[in-house]
Amino acid sequence: MKHTFIEEIELGSKNAILKINIIKYYINNGTNTLAELGKEMDLSVPTVTKLVGELIEEGYVIDFGKQETTGGRRPNIYGINPDSGYFVGVDIKKFRINIAVINFQGDTIDSKLSIPFSYENTQESFNHLCNIIKQFIDNLTIPKNKILSIGINMSGRVNTETGHSYSSYFFSEQPLTETFQERLGFHVTIDNDSRSMAYGEFMNGGVNAEKNILFVNVSWGLGLGIITDGKLYYGKSGFAGEFGHIIAFENDVICHCGKKGCLETGASGSYIYRRFMEKVAEGNSTILEDRIKKGETIIQEDILNAALHEDILAIELIEEVGTSLGKHIAGLINLFNPELVIIGGAVAVTGDYLLLPIKSAVKKYSLNLVSKDTTIKLSKLGDKAGVIGACMLARSKMLGLI
Ligand SMILES: [Zn+2]
Repeated sequence: MKHTFIEEIELGSKNAILKINIIKYYINNGTNTLAELGKEMDLSVPTVTKLVGELIEEGYVIDFGKQETTGGRRPNIYGINPDSGYFVGVDIKKFRINIAVINFQGDTIDSKLSIPFSYENTQESFNHLCNIIKQFIDNLTIPKNKILSIGINMSGRVNTETGHSYSSYFFSEQPLTETFQERLGFHVTIDNDSRSMAYGEFMNGGVNAEKNILFVNVSWGLGLGIITDGKLYYGKSGFAGEFGHIIAFENDVICHCGKKGCLETGASGSYIYRRFMEKVAEGNSTILEDRIKKGETIIQEDILNAALHEDILAIELIEEVGTSLGKHIAGLINLFNPELVIIGGAVAVTGDYLLLPIKSAVKKYSLNLVSKDTTIKLSKLGDKAGVIGACMLARSKMLGLI
């Protein structure tokens, strides 16, 4: 029996590898003639003709017809069929969800951002998440059978190979990806949120030719995505990048990981939130005072917004976090010698209030010879880094591009 392309990928056949390279070529370079493609891929014309023919048969590649030339023979050009498959990306944040769908070419077809949500390790939260994803897919106008995979970002420890999540939604021994698949009816992969954000920025954001990149995700928690030599770094079990749980403070604050003194307990959105509320209770003034006194619920975003409206209390806490982070990013720079450090995540919306103290502390605490190689900048994709990364990872994993 003849296998489909996706089955061939799963079997890891030689044909599948060649076809993936053809698709990768089209994704990166656009359309081409068969003769040129053969030359680029170091394959004979009969071989590329056969492989491209099979990809056309299954709808992944299109014959765009004769190209415009100034004379002579006019061969047909071929390229990706953008509508041959779709990939959904889901970025779960502490208080909301971003969700989007891309086509085979990687263009965003539809998205829904900031859907209210509460990310808790409970069955109720899991059910709510599944309903949000289902509803998004139900409302899409694309053929549902062309959704090839869903990529979901989660915080904490995620083994993307086995599909297990160890920090949230671990209700049974069954891999979480299988539980998701049963509920949603589509192929599902999961990955760590910071890693996914790094990938989004790498594929579609502020990364140009850089290949050695650290993405620091300063959100409610603190995470790190590592790209070395143009590839995502996972470590043995997918747990690499637990930057937030480096012991950094002599405080008595119990981290959600169960230990004390983690960097996250003094350098994250949750720290800003906790200290802000404590300081207001101690009598410090803020532009949010009236709302707090009225008993309104204040979320992390309110405090970050207050900083953008020049609230001194919020700004001082963000600066404090920037300095603490900068000291430890200096250590990362000494370890990794990256070309680029990207500061992203929810807290990064505060821009220079966070970035300048980071840069200043890095200058002070890193080895100058090492850190002069490194550019530190804010995430270009901002809030969308995670959801774009999730879509891109779903596609890259399905096609074996990473
Ligand atoms: Zn911790």
